[in-house]
Amino acid sequence: MPAWKGIVGKGFTAAEFAQYADTVAFDKWRPQFVVLHNTAVPAFSECTPLSPAVQQNAVSALAKLHTLLGLDPSRLRLHKEDPKTTHDCPGSKIVKADFQELILEQIGTSEHALETSI
Ligand SMILES: [Zn+2]
Repeated sequence: MPAWKGIVGKGFTAAEFAQYADTVAFDKWRPQFVVLHNTAVPAFSECTPLSPAVQQNAVSALAKLHTLLGLDPSRLRLHKEDPKTTHDCPGSKIVKADFQELILEQIGTSEHALETSI
């Protein structure tokens, strides 16, 4: 696997993220699943309850990544599912099944249907 390239370090709207994601080449490394993390500022834990806008932004980004890479949202993982992780990321308020359902709904309503069979 190639060396970690670091973070982008930018904030995106859903549309800006979709445009950015389309510019990323996945020719040397092809993810098998997406991991949901909190952000440093604001953390999901600070968004209690998670605002609809923050949740929709996360769902839009996740739907874009799953569509772009042809990934099944059932394979979504939360950072805290990594056995090497010692902290509750992205927080106890995040329910993976809810996000998976929302991602599927978003993919179903987007003009870019999931291209591979799931
Ligand atoms: Zn994390």
